[in-house]
This record gives sequence, C-alpha cells and structure tokens, in this order.
Amino acid sequence: MRVLVVGQGAREHAIAWKLRQSPLVKEIYAAPGNAGIAAVADCVNIGVADIIEIADFAEKLKMDLTVVGPELPLTLGIVDEFQKRELPIFGPTRLAAELEGSKVFSKEFMRKYKIPTADSTICNSTDEAKSALKKTKYPAVIKVEGLAGGKGVVIAKSAKEADQYLHVIFEDKKFGNAANRILIEEYLEGEEVSFMVITDGTKFASMAPAKDYKKANDGETGPNTGGMGAHSPAVILKPETAGEIVKTIVIPTIHGMAEEGRTYSGCLYVGLMLTAKGPKVLEYNCRFGDPETQVQMLRLQDDLAEVLLNVTRGHIGDVKLNWRKEAAACVGVVVNGYPEEYQKGQEIAIDPINDPAVELFHAGTMKRGGKLLVNTGRVMSVCAHAATLAEALAKAYAAAPKIRFEGARYRRYIGYRALEQRKQAVGE
Ligand code: AMP
Repeated sequence: MRVLVVGQGAREHAIAWKLRQSPLVKEIYAAPGNAGIAAVADCVNIGVADIIEIADFAEKLKMDLTVVGPELPLTLGIVDEFQKRELPIFGPTRLAAELEGSKVFSKEFMRKYKIPTADSTICNSTDEAKSALKKTKYPAVIKVEGLAGGKGVVIAKSAKEADQYLHVIFEDKKFGNAANRILIEEYLEGEEVSFMVITDGTKFASMAPAKDYKKANDGETGPNTGGMGAHSPAVILKPETAGEIVKTIVIPTIHGMAEEGRTYSGCLYVGLMLTAKGPKVLEYNCRFGDPETQVQMLRLQDDLAEVLLNVTRGHIGDVKLNWRKEAAACVGVVVNGYPEEYQKGQEIAIDPINDPAVELFHAGTMKRGGKLLVNTGRVMSVCAHAATLAEALAKAYAAAPKIRFEGARYRRYIGYRALEQRKQAVGE
C-alpha cells in the first residue's frame, strides 16, 4: 500500500510512525511533513491548504490511502476533491467538517438533536455581544465562530475583560472572517476530557480516552494553546461516564449528521466538560487530536492502515479497537512565549535518550543545511509508555530536557492532577 499523510505536526508524525509498522504499508508520503516525519516518510513540499495540488499528487502516485491530520484541508473540502477523483481518503467531507469549522453550526446542531452542551447566544456585533453578556454570569466564555488554531476562545472574568476581547474581535479584527459571528457562552465547571471515535457514518469504534492540557501554564493558567501535553488513559473518565457520552453524545451526533445529509466519516473528536450535571460538549473536532494522537498511537495495538482503509471503504463493521494496558504520556516542548510572540529559526540539539520507551514526535521542526531548526511554537512531543501513568510521565519528563534550544519550555506538572485522582481512587 502507498499512503499519504497530510500535515506537518507531531500528530502526523505519530500517525506516520504507526502506519510505518503496518505490514500492509510499503510507501509513506507526507505533505508537507517536517524534519521528524522525514525519517518515516518521503516529504513533498505541498502546503496543507493546497488541496488541489495534494489531490493531483495523490492521483499521480495512485495513493491507496490518504490520511488528513489538520482541520484546515478538511474544512476546505479535501475529502470532496479526493472522492470526486475516486481516491480513498480518511476524513469527513466539507459539509461534515463544519462540526468543527463553524461553532455556530455545531451549536445549532446540538440544540436540534438535544445533545448536552453549554447555553450560548450567537452574536453578530459588539452591541449584540454586550447585551448577551448582560444576561450571562462571569466568568463568561467568548468564542469566535471559525477556525482559530485553538486560540479563538477566551474566558472573561469580568465585563472589562469581555469588552477588551470584543474590541480585539470586532475592531482589531484579529481573527478576520473567522469572527464574523461569535458565541457568548455559559461557563461550564468541571474536568475536561477528550473522547474520540472512528466512524464510517453509521458504526463507530471508540478510541482510548485521553486527556490533553490546553493551558499554557501549570495550574491550568495562561492562554489556551494548541496543546501542551496529554496522557492516556484519561484517568478521570470512569467507564460508566464513557457509556453515557456514547449514548447521549456520540450516537446522536453520528445519527444527526446523517439525517442532516452530512454523513460524518472519519475521526469524530468530542471535547467535553464533565460537569455536575453530566458530560457536556465544549467543542467538536473533525480530526484526530493533537497531542492526544501521540499517546493513543503508542497504545493502539491494531493495524492503523487496515482500520482507516476500512472506514474509507464505508465499512468499519463491528471492529473494536484494541489498546495496550500500558499508559502513555506526552510532554510538549514549546518555545517560550508561545502561543503569543516567540522566536523561530534557532537550532535544536537532542541529547542521547537511552530509553526505548521514549518516542519523539516532531511538531515544529525543519532541516536547513543539515541543522535541525525551530519552525513553529510547538516544537516536539516527548512521549513515553510504561506500565503505569506515573512511570510514563517520569520517562517523558526525564527526556524533555534533552531537547535543547534557545527558549525551550515545557509544563512541569502534566498529569499531576490525574495522578492525585488515581491515588484517591485506590485509597493510597
Ligand atoms: P473550544 O475550542 O470550544 O474547545 O474551547 C477551547 C477551550 O476553552 C476548551 O478546551 C475549554 O478549556 C475552554 N472552554 C470552551 N468552552 C467552555 C465553556 N463553555 N466553559 C468552560 N470552558 C470552556
């Protein structure tokens, strides 16, 4: 089999790494890939938004399977373009990807299908937002409608903070057209967890629950980022809650999307808050999580190529995914300042890591003149697997300082609360 992975982050590196282990897969290409992906795939210099060029490339090489990592090409319709050319591709169509591409669409969809989520008001202007805020308690959540790389959500603690953010949205136009409409949303309290399934539009197989850490700093403070770390199992998610999520959220979403004429095939990612009133949806994503995929790929026992190929053929069937009992952890090494201003282009040195349980998945790295350089704010997912979560985290933390570059930074306590919760659960 000849496979193409679209994307350039640590998620795509983890996917390519896992596909490399499949006896079915002979050749792997990545568009555009990164310096780490280049070790497991042939990278071609086509950007993720250039969906026609990607489809031309896949057609020329008669790709047997294409796997799309990021949301942008999905919302631009890469799957529709491939399907038009009868090229197998894993991911939802443009209409189905609106679940992530438009928070207004997804909110209205959830209302229609009675899927539990935060109360929310859709606003077109500063005035509308201000009057919605008058009816909302603080902290209040303000979300832009469109894609913003995980940075379009702000939790305003006061009316003053909310006003400042509205200014950034409607006057400074920081998010451009992605913020033509915004949501003013009720703040949900609880623990956050990610739940993902792979679906062919009818049936689905659950992925191992994972927990990601979005806030820039320890203590869950600072701005939201694309993700600073993750672990699987999620610890916080009890099996009965997982069952409730499937019943009240996953199944109604898959059925609802089919009813809307937007049959959803691919990875359906539900970001949830476990509230006192049960699990509620914070957001949908139309693709694999980043950094959740990094830890899930370390735990997946099945042949990823086979599973994804079956989905593209429309028959996932009654497949159940199998996960190693071992835990996996990921610590994201980023550039100081990320997700705001940060330096790029500095050289990366990687000291020897003599632990076969550690995997480095490159995020923002590039090779220039034989040197490994920083390319984006998230630089490396330092991942490890071990019998327990505590050991997996310890291994990842032992390896993280070996990734050295000017301004390297990582959160110190990824998984810390989960370990506390586990101790409480087993009465230690
Ligand atoms: P979203 O892109 O909608 O998932 O939002 C990004 C992050 O903002 C989430 O992962 C949460 O940490 C936070 N968030 C979003 N919506 C809410 C909400 N209604 N209540 C509390 N936190 C929220």
